[in-house]
Amino acid sequence: MSATEDSAACLRCGVCCFSRLETYVRVEGEDWARLGEEAERLAQFVGNRAYLRMHEGHCAALAERRAEDGAREWFCTIYERRPRVCRDLARGSPECAAERELKGARPQAAAG
Ligand code: SF4
Ligand code: SF4
Repeated sequence: MSATEDSAACLRCGVCCFSRLETYVRVEGEDWARLGEEAERLAQFVGNRAYLRMHEGHCAALAERRAEDGAREWFCTIYERRPRVCRDLARGSPECAAERELKGARPQAAAG
């Protein structure tokens, strides 16, 4: 699968963007800089470390929409500027498989 196809598939999935932890998506200095004006809105400090805000069981940057084929899909609204930890989780990796095994039902449960 090409990198473009990987991106498209992840943009429909979003499973690894679900968590009940407030400290789930670490935002390091370069991540904060990459977010630019969005940093204050999307990230917050917990102690002396920054994390993306969480909203209703998933990252605040994750949004739901209706695809052209009618299916519901979840997509990262900051995909090109997402933090390093998100970039490091490669589609098809053991970590990706573990996320889908553990949380695969959450997107549908959270669908509006
Ligand atoms: S990395 Fe895996 S779990 Fe995360 S969005 Fe992509 S396919 Fe889904
Ligand atoms: S920044 Fe994007 S890829 Fe990373 S957890 Fe949030 S929605 Fe998912």
